Parts: sequence; C-alpha cells; structure tokens
Amino acid sequence: AYIVRQRMKSSGEWAKAMAIVKEFEEKCGAPEVKLKQVADALTVEMHAGLASEGGSKLKMLISYVDNLPTGDEEGVFYALDLGGTNFRVLRVQLGGKEVGVVHQEFSEASIPPALMSHSSDALFDYIAEKLANFVAEEEQRFQQPPGRQRELGFTFSFPVMQTSINSGTLIRWTKGFSIDDAVGQDVVAELTKALQRKGVDMRVAALVNDTIGTLAGGRYTNKDVSVAVILGTGTNAAYVERAQAIPKWHGPLPRSGEMVINMEWGNFRSSHLPLTEFDHALDVESLNPGEQIFEKITSGMYLGEILRRVLLKMAEEAAFFGDEVPPKLKIPFILRTPEMSAMHHDMSSDLRVVNNKLKDILEISNSTLKTRRVVIDLCNIVATRGARLAAAGVLGVLKKMGRDTLREGGPQRTVIAMDGGLYEHYTEYRKCLENTLRELLGEETASSIVVEHSNDGSGIGAALLAASHSLYLEENS
Ligand code: BGC
Ligand code: MG
Repeated sequence: AYIVRQRMKSSGEWAKAMAIVKEFEEKCGAPEVKLKQVADALTVEMHAGLASEGGSKLKMLISYVDNLPTGDEEGVFYALDLGGTNFRVLRVQLGGKEVGVVHQEFSEASIPPALMSHSSDALFDYIAEKLANFVAEEEQRFQQPPGRQRELGFTFSFPVMQTSINSGTLIRWTKGFSIDDAVGQDVVAELTKALQRKGVDMRVAALVNDTIGTLAGGRYTNKDVSVAVILGTGTNAAYVERAQAIPKWHGPLPRSGEMVINMEWGNFRSSHLPLTEFDHALDVESLNPGEQIFEKITSGMYLGEILRRVLLKMAEEAAFFGDEVPPKLKIPFILRTPEMSAMHHDMSSDLRVVNNKLKDILEISNSTLKTRRVVIDLCNIVATRGARLAAAGVLGVLKKMGRDTLREGGPQRTVIAMDGGLYEHYTEYRKCLENTLRELLGEETASSIVVEHSNDGSGIGAALLAASHSLYLEENS
C-alpha cells in the first residue's frame, strides 16, 4: 500500500513539476515579434541616452575615444584588465605598420571574493601589488634598469563617467562588486595612488571599458569592426557613433567626426522583456536591485542562478528531487553558469554529466533519467531566452547605426567583435545567438554582418589606446 501511495503521489507531483516548467517556458518566450519590439525599444533608449545625461536607463557613456587604432602604434605598453572574476596584467610590444603585435605576455589572478566588497584601498593595493610583481619580474628577465616609466591602459569594466581619456568616476558597481567607498571616486586616481604606495612608476594613459578595449583591439586587425559586445560575467556593448548625433556632447568636434559610445546596455529594461517571478526574486535579492535587468537575464553571472531558483521551486512545491528539498539547492549562486553549460551539452545516453553535476554540486544522488532530461530542458529555456535577447540587443544597435538593412550601393560590411566567457564557452548559447541574429536580419542583410570572436581583444585594445594617447598626453602636457 505504501508503494502504491508513493507512486500515486509522485505522479501527481510530476504533473505539478511539469506545470512549473511549462509556465516558466511560456514566460521566457521570445518570439521574433517580441525581439523586434525589444530591439526598437533599445534604439529609442539609445537616442534618449545620447540626448541628455540621465535621459535614459541606458547611460550611453562618452568614452573619449574618437580615434581607433590604425596599426601605426609602436613601442612597449601595458594593460590592466579588471572587471569580472579574474584580472590580468599584460605587456604588449607593438611593432608599428604591417608588423602588428610583436610580442605579448600576461599574468592572470583571481580577485579574492572578500576584496570585492571591502574598501577601495584594499582592492587597488592588491592590484598594484600584482603589477609590481609583474614589473619586477620583467626587469629581472630583460635586465632593465629599474624605475623606467611605463604607460598603462586600464580596462575597468564597470560604468564610469569619463572626464577625459584617462580619468573618470565610478557610477556604480555591477556584477559581484560592491565597494561603497569607491563609488563616485576617480578610479585612475585611486589606482595611481596605490601604484605610488607600492613604488610602481606607471602612468595610466587610457581608462577604458572592456567593450571599448574590445572594439579597439578588433579594429586593429580588421577595419570593418564598429561594434563590440561582451557576453561574460556581465554584458555590454560599444559602437562607433557620429559625433554630430550626440546632443549631450558639448566638447570640440573630433577631427574623425566620430566618438565611441559605451552603451552600458546591461542596465536596459523594457516592458517588452520576458521576465518571470524568478527574475524578480533574483533582482530583489541581488546586490543591485532594480539595476542591470537586461544583464540579469542574459549574462553569465546569472543564468545558473535562474536555473537554481526554478529547480528550488520544483523541489519545494512538487518534490522534484524527492520528499526532501536538497539543502544545497537553497544556496544562492551555488549553480554556476559553466556547470549549467556542461549539463546543457551532455550528449551521453544516460546523461551522466547532469547526474554528476547534480551529485557534486547539489548532493542530489537519486536523480532519474527523466528528471535529468527536465534539467536539460530548463538549461535550454534559460540559455535560449538569454541568447535571443542578446541578439535583439545587437539588432537594436545595428538599427541605430543604420546597418540593419542593405543600403543602396551595395552592402556595407559590419563586423561585431565579441568576447566574454559566456560567448566563448557556452556553445549552445553562442549558436542560438548567431542563428537568432540571422533570423532577425534576414538572410540577405545577415550576409553583410559578421560576428567575430575577439579573443582577449580588450587587453590589447587598452594597450593600443594607451599607445595612441600617451603621445597625445606628451603633446598636451
Ligand atoms: C558592466 C560593463 C561591462 C560589462 C561586461 C557590466 O556589468 O557594467 O561596464 O562592460 O559588465 O564586462
Ligand atoms: Mg578569452
């Protein structure tokens, strides 16, 4: 009798679990019409953000980059890349025309989680320390006299209100960072002070967002690059705008007539976005409630967490993993997007990757093949929504640039430089993004739009911008 009761109960609960999946899938739906509305809404916000400071949730930040690399840059430059889970120090040797990057080396370290919410001094001291080590090692290896001044490009992947090419104040933190005393500070001044404390003689010649670095790095090897998109821990895009089309820019008109804009599209929100109860709960409990809504449904920091929340509800309300709710499933951010991606790509007949991940991460050891299949379905729902929305974002940018349809006089090639761990490693996400972009543009236009993986372009890009602006700083000092 017990067995029968169990079975009856579980079939009712199975139906309940499936109802949760079905409702979630419907709420995540992003059909073509909806994506076009999202793209249009983004274009409208782009105009508003360019019109006046604070005119939109889209900050449309002026980067002070009005000239992208030409290939003539020469010399040894450094870059510091801070923005996600890791940070990197790079040394890039540029050989000038037709030579390109002669040599490059880097060192990478992860940011200790405690430093992500402590104090500005603690974070910058840690970074300066790593830079000091990098430089000391280099001096030893190349037997250079110590104390040579070095030019540094600083890639800082958070929203910054720039006041020049090498200064700017932090508007707010995103992703996992929340260091209160850094907000409103000039991040270059903070870094420079820390470098002095550690006795490193470096000048920050350029302060750039990772999207700007990626655009610059992409342009260096391909002159058709005019958009950059990051899909990693966070998400964002930058593009080349006509200076005349930026009403809020009151500075001198650049000779190039162009200005690169850091959109900060992660903060985009619109009533057209397909949001669910899980997204609302995630947002409310996040470090930055009400902010970065687009980022919270498309980027790597959050996809695994959305999946966890759906599974938790299924466990609590439909005994999806048995009579007890697995305690680990209650821990926020325990299910990371790389693990979700590994499950999503499980091709084995018994879904043993899913089984192992459930076991290792969530201590769920009794999953059936049927439940594992459902887990994959959920991965697919979450990743598909994110990727399709990212594609809609790209369409919105192309629209603003007038590149979303073929013009008279033949196609104008547009190359989009993309980077970030999500794009790079989550194959299903990337395929879905690229297919959706083609779907939205139509075959003919799609043939003139190229998405290119710019592998670590942001670091090299920052070094390149340091190179072109160190000259500028010399001339104007
Ligand atoms: C930040 C952007 C950054 C993006 C990708 C977002 O959270 O606000 O400045 O470009 O992440 O790293
Ligand atoms: Mg990479």
